[in-house]
Amino acid sequence: MVYDCIIIGGGIAGLQAAIQLGRYQHNVLVLDEGKGRSSICHCYHNLLGWPDGVSGEKLRGLGREHAEKLGVQFCGQRVRKVEKRDAEFIATTITSQHFTGKRILFATGIKDNIPPFPSLMPCLGKSVFVCPDCDGYEILDKAALVIGSGKAGATMALTLTYWTNALTFINHGKGTIDSELKGKLFEKNIPIISSEINEIHTAADAAFAGVTLETGERIDSSYAFLALGGNKPNSELAGQLGVKLEKNKHILVDPRTKMTNVKNVWAAGDIAVHSEQTAIAMGDGLQSAIWIHKSLLKD
Ligand SMILES: Cc1cc2nc3c(=O)[nH]c(=O)nc-3n(C[C@H](O)[C@H](O)[C@H](O)COP(=O)(O)OP(=O)(O)OC[C@H]3O[C@@H](n4cnc5c(N)ncnc54)[C@H](O)[C@@H]3O)c2cc1C
Repeated sequence: MVYDCIIIGGGIAGLQAAIQLGRYQHNVLVLDEGKGRSSICHCYHNLLGWPDGVSGEKLRGLGREHAEKLGVQFCGQRVRKVEKRDAEFIATTITSQHFTGKRILFATGIKDNIPPFPSLMPCLGKSVFVCPDCDGYEILDKAALVIGSGKAGATMALTLTYWTNALTFINHGKGTIDSELKGKLFEKNIPIISSEINEIHTAADAAFAGVTLETGERIDSSYAFLALGGNKPNSELAGQLGVKLEKNKHILVDPRTKMTNVKNVWAAGDIAVHSEQTAIAMGDGLQSAIWIHKSLLKD
């Protein structure tokens, strides 16, 4: 079987593209490992239609159900290789299953650098955040910790002063903070604590409650932002096909069509170059699907 389009990544961008391609009645396969940012965010607060917030899990569930109703097929495996053979693309999964498609859409997202404390995970999107544009509002006039490293952490703390003046920066990764940044943090009354965190404290309902430092000191707080730097775009597969990447490893796409420099290969969502937002990932997925459809019509 040759699919009209294989979508690699069934998060927000991949699902929205799958729904649109399904409505054109194309044969579509979504290969999805089922991880990603939309699997770990327990509440999106800035989406039209969801004034009380919605979890990534809920959105993904609804999206998959919607796409399946339109005939889209799903396979829950990680793709390890993509190659071009004549006019078609072969995607190979980690169990060495091969799938052939006329078009490829990369919607593989990025991997966040989250410190490995299991107790943090239920708090993500509810009381622990990663993106000021998404969730700065959640700490409006409230006290919060910035758990970060060096420049990334310091910059996050300074950005968050738009919403609150009650910030403490814990330089957990012990990255270098240059004197200029130190000066700016000082001006904004943001204390810098250079210490690793030994323990994360939480309360009921995914409420963050604070940290214990390596020194044994406990710092209580109801909110935290993470900023360790080093988030990683999942663009290795695209690289295998010769897709052009930005210096920071995001995929370059045509702003109108979302096609990459490689003919019949598209990219959408956080993996492409944009502001890493759910609504934008949906828009990207939809837009890429429209242009994938146009290209299939030409065949
Ligand atoms: C804690 C947190 C809070 C956030 N809060 C907000 C918010 O409030 N508002 C907002 O707009 N945005 C928020 N975001 C950002 C939002 O989650 C992303 O913009 C969105 O998920 C991007 O969608 P995507 O489809 O590009 O990637 P993802 O949702 O990450 O989906 C990518 C999918 O690709 C799969 N995949 C990757 N590689 C492979 C492979 N090789 N083979 C098979 N499958 C693969 C992954 O498993 C995953 O399922 C938040 C993110 C985080 C982490």
